[in-house]
Amino acid sequence: MVGLGKDFSDAPDYVSHNDHGTAVLLKQMADAGVRHLVLAGSMVVYGEGRYSCPEHGVVRPGARSVRDLDGGRFEPPCPRCGAALSPELVGEDAPVDPRNVYATTKLAQEHLAAAWARMTGGRVISLRYHNVYGEGMPRDTPYAGVASFFRSALERGEAPRVFEDGGQRRDFVHVEDVAAANRTALLALREPGHLAEGELRAYNTGSGTPHTVGEMAEALATAFGGPQPVVTGEYRLGDVRHITASSERLRRELGWRAKVGFAEGMRAFATAPLADTPGRAGVAVRA
Ligand SMILES: [Zn+2]
Repeated sequence: MVGLGKDFSDAPDYVSHNDHGTAVLLKQMADAGVRHLVLAGSMVVYGEGRYSCPEHGVVRPGARSVRDLDGGRFEPPCPRCGAALSPELVGEDAPVDPRNVYATTKLAQEHLAAAWARMTGGRVISLRYHNVYGEGMPRDTPYAGVASFFRSALERGEAPRVFEDGGQRRDFVHVEDVAAANRTALLALREPGHLAEGELRAYNTGSGTPHTVGEMAEALATAFGGPQPVVTGEYRLGDVRHITASSERLRRELGWRAKVGFAEGMRAFATAPLADTPGRAGVAVRA
């Protein structure tokens, strides 16, 4: 299960599907002698990630407060002096800090896979996906991603509703590039020398070019032929402000790089078919 969900009431469902489901899968893999796993990980494990204050250097912002968000103060302030911060690229060794139920289950999934690898001599690559979009994405549900919300609004003839001030930075990566990353990871697991027995290695998987949510809404609306997005100032508690990570490790160690650019990808996605299945499906990759 992906996304933020409705409210805390679906927490047991998230844990059941994402973590208990993973434990069952890993147990079956152990029994069957399967030793290689590529996990669909997520950037959400970093929480607000890495920011820097002009005065205090690299800091980790605290939880976002309802008072700030209601007042339209969407940028997380420096926890020490309250100054405005600038987001920086997060590397795989950054401390994890899951900020919602989904993020927590994605982190637990990695820990379960790491435990499986240690106990069976298996090898795991966790691809920590950024915001995946593209053909076949589920239509909007509380479990879908923002690209799907915007697309579904446009199809109903409505303006995409952009939360906060539209300045949330994300890295939108096309599903074809993510499929290629999975194939690359599967092949790397077979080659000796990439990973040790019992090892889990994480790779951020993004286009390498962050854009704002507002920019995405505009690109989609323009390619679709309108209506243009409206910025509403609404927010969801549990959303993080910026998620921008470096995908340099995946390029350097496994030789993968994203091929679909933002403008080209959004143009294609604006009219690509969406799936009617509920948004509980992940990204299906045929490798
Ligand atoms: Zn400061």
